[in-house]
Amino acid sequence: MKFRSIKGTKDILPEETGRWQHVEKVVRSVMGRSNYREIRTPIFEETALFARSIGELTDIVTKEMYTFADRSGDSLTLKPEGTASVLRAALQHNLTEQAPLLKLYYQGPMFRQERPQAGRLRQFHQFGAEALGSPSPQLDVEIILLPLHVYRELGVRPLTLVINSVGCEKCRPAYREQLIAMLMTVYDQLSPESQARVKQNPLRVLDSKDDQDRKVTQTAPLIKDHLCMECKTHFDHVQSLLHATGAPFTVDGRLVRGLDYYTKTAFEITSSALGSQDALAGGGRYDLLVEELGGKSTPGVGFAAGLERLMIVLEKTGAPVDDQRGPDLFIAAVDEASRRWAFTRTEELRRKGFAVETDFLQRSLKSQMREANRQRARWVLVIGEKELKAGTAQLKNMLGGEERTVTLNDLESALA
Ligand code: AMP
Repeated sequence: MKFRSIKGTKDILPEETGRWQHVEKVVRSVMGRSNYREIRTPIFEETALFARSIGELTDIVTKEMYTFADRSGDSLTLKPEGTASVLRAALQHNLTEQAPLLKLYYQGPMFRQERPQAGRLRQFHQFGAEALGSPSPQLDVEIILLPLHVYRELGVRPLTLVINSVGCEKCRPAYREQLIAMLMTVYDQLSPESQARVKQNPLRVLDSKDDQDRKVTQTAPLIKDHLCMECKTHFDHVQSLLHATGAPFTVDGRLVRGLDYYTKTAFEITSSALGSQDALAGGGRYDLLVEELGGKSTPGVGFAAGLERLMIVLEKTGAPVDDQRGPDLFIAAVDEASRRWAFTRTEELRRKGFAVETDFLQRSLKSQMREANRQRARWVLVIGEKELKAGTAQLKNMLGGEERTVTLNDLESALA
């Protein structure tokens, strides 16, 4: 083997694409029913867009982005997440001016140079949505329910929904100081990673998965207990609306997530069918981000969900797949003249909307029958000199085995 795929990337093979197409179809349907319209943005953007939005000090920006200088020396980055690009496009094309509430969704590949492991890739796929223009907690809940609808329709269970409020620019600074003061008292006992975060991003210390970090921060103050009136009211509303929709959830005061732009609501959906990388989807509100990117102050809320992890869950839980179906008809031909007839009829029937396949390898009739069976063709038509002369042939049903004589000029009605 001369070439292999790049570490952390994955080929999605034909036997898997049926499942991918099915999931993509469900995503489209769920989004459409909630009035989200699709947006497709380029694979790469100016590096500064991501540094500015995701946060200069986040893991994504400091060590995971695929950044390169193109031939003119501009710094470009393969998109590590979807929100920044969607907002950039919305601002560039004045979409937020055209509609008071803008609801967009996307599906596509993202790139992060993380350490590859089960459920963690360097090129992975996400579907996600962004709603711009309303500070209403109803929109937070609509966004939280979108991925849950997708999972329910795919039969994915059980799931855990965890929510938190990370406050806003009014309540976070004072809380942050309190938290830093507490963390300094246990600084020596923290993991090196958490030590580095104490000053730069102390809330992420609470989100650490390290057992020792968790133990020594047990008594740390939590932002949800230090919210300003506005954030507290918002968080209460989100919870009561979630209750009203019947979606089970828990509040985890330590949930922060790895992107800096969140304000108020942050949430994560996990599946116990996954290993240590158990997050299927996450998101939250980002009321300051549009302004940060140069737009007019506009509240926003969104989520992103991983597709590879969803595929792992679907495979493990044996959720049904809408498999690609086989051809309606396989035309088996036994000599040169009938092969020619089979080919032109195949093309004609395809044009008329039928899925038709024929033999391209001049195989024996027996191996053509075997091939039709392998491809799960519904019908097989055997054509030879005798059939062409008579203008009729035997149409064999590959499922029930029943055979009937059909006129070659009227195959369509036999297939319909
Ligand atoms: P994030 O954009 O970090 O909020 O992640 C949202 C979701 O994308 C996660 O819950 C995962 O399902 C998925 N995801 C994030 N990073 C990766 C990765 N490196 N490999 C596979 N899936 C990922």
